[in-house]
Amino acid sequence: MSLSSLYSSNALLNVLSIGLDDSPDKTFIRFLDNDTQITRQAFFSTCERYCAFFLEIGIEAGDRIVVQSPKTTDSLCLYISAIMAGGIYIPLNPDFTDAEVSYYLNDSKPTIFICVPERAESLMKIASESDVPFTYTIGTKDIGTFYEEVYLRDAKFTEVIPREEEDIAAILYTSGTTGKPKGAMISHRALSSNALILRKEWRFTSQDLLIHALPVFHTHGLFVATNVALVSGAKLLFLDKFDSDKIIKAMPFATSLMGVPTFYTRLLQHADLSTAAKHMRLFISGSAPLLAQTHEEWKEKTGHAILERYGMTEANMVTSNPYKGIRKAGTVGIPLEGIKVRITSQETMEEVGEGQVGSLEIKGANLFTGYWQNPEKTASEFRKDGYFISGDLACRDNDGYISIVGREKDLIISGGFNIYPKEIEAVLDELPDVIESAIIGVYHADFGEAVVAVVVKKEQASLTEEDIIGYVSSQLVNYKRPKHVAFASNLPRNSMGKVQKNVLREQFKSLFEAN
Ligand code: AMP
Repeated sequence: MSLSSLYSSNALLNVLSIGLDDSPDKTFIRFLDNDTQITRQAFFSTCERYCAFFLEIGIEAGDRIVVQSPKTTDSLCLYISAIMAGGIYIPLNPDFTDAEVSYYLNDSKPTIFICVPERAESLMKIASESDVPFTYTIGTKDIGTFYEEVYLRDAKFTEVIPREEEDIAAILYTSGTTGKPKGAMISHRALSSNALILRKEWRFTSQDLLIHALPVFHTHGLFVATNVALVSGAKLLFLDKFDSDKIIKAMPFATSLMGVPTFYTRLLQHADLSTAAKHMRLFISGSAPLLAQTHEEWKEKTGHAILERYGMTEANMVTSNPYKGIRKAGTVGIPLEGIKVRITSQETMEEVGEGQVGSLEIKGANLFTGYWQNPEKTASEFRKDGYFISGDLACRDNDGYISIVGREKDLIISGGFNIYPKEIEAVLDELPDVIESAIIGVYHADFGEAVVAVVVKKEQASLTEEDIIGYVSSQLVNYKRPKHVAFASNLPRNSMGKVQKNVLREQFKSLFEAN
């Protein structure tokens, strides 16, 4: 029997194992530091072993498997083996505190929790308080670990558990900035359709070696990068985290890189970038806005136009700049094949015209199924005709390219005027002494909200608050002028490089209280 036919009854595996029969001995994962490699066959055999173990201890279809582990190749095996066993994979950020883990375990009610050994004592206690039947540590080969249990049971793999397209493959908790994190239920269909679309759109083949330096608890590193490599037969060059030197070292024999914008801004500081990037085929950016300035500097230094795409946990990848054709700086491109995007007025809910800002809504096989055990929240985020309200504000130019203007909740309403932070940030970023900036709305008794600029300026720069307000006034209408400028040494960011405006809003919330 062919290898992949063993997996065909499981919708997602049926797609992710494409290519396994043609080249089982071909490398799937390679490393930079030592020359060890993991073949596709070896990778899938480990997954089968873990799957057999899960089934042996009694996991049933639809059971949750929560994994909080540092980034290792085993994290990827746990993802695939959970799918093989018909389970729902739930990765957690290894930096989550005990209190956060407790919330996720209580919310998702897993059958298995796999955690790092360093905090085993407290995490085991939390798992037992949350009535998790099986908890293992992973990360070393010590006694009492997941590895030892797998070895002792030595369960034989016979088959994967059949799963249909609409069955849930994973739950990813959204990095929500307000309220408690919500679990987005992601189906086999959403993942497999997106992997196939991206392979085609970005021309991934078995000739590719993709530098993988993203975390694997988030949609970008877990699904976009890993699934695309699996369906295309490409190899992953596996780095446990972002490291400029290592990426520069990998580039001459790699073909592609997927990164968040901070990868690119940091790599731009590297003296060897121009030479290293020469033979690369493709640089992709997403998960946060890439400044047009970064796009241009990158092109100047490397000759490559970064391909920016847009997506989110709930919708996988939604739009992309074209592989062939113009990659427009400051835009996220056009909707991917088979995915519908519309931009609607928040007042009338009708579609807005070219150049007008509205709420971005999405429809397609890429969408999540709903929020875990939260039908009210799910219902409130979908329109009656099946469009998902992304919460992003966007506009479309006359070529159909979409620009993300910001999150709806970051919109500032000052004196009755709508103000989109990105417009002011783009103006501030034009100033040569500004490294980066964030515009937030802060409570103001007179205006409702007032515009506040948080600016990171270059060391030694003499830029003042007056300079900044003066420059904005020369470029934009009066009501968009910041009422206060604060200088900071850096902007607070989460692990995916997104600026945490909620943290800034909290920091400055009392700024105008005396007014
Ligand atoms: P997450 O669910 O963590 O992937 O975050 C999704 C959010 O990141 C989106 O709703 C957008 O606000 C933002 N985002 C993702 N890609 C881009 C992009 N290329 N440009 C601007 N914002 C982006």
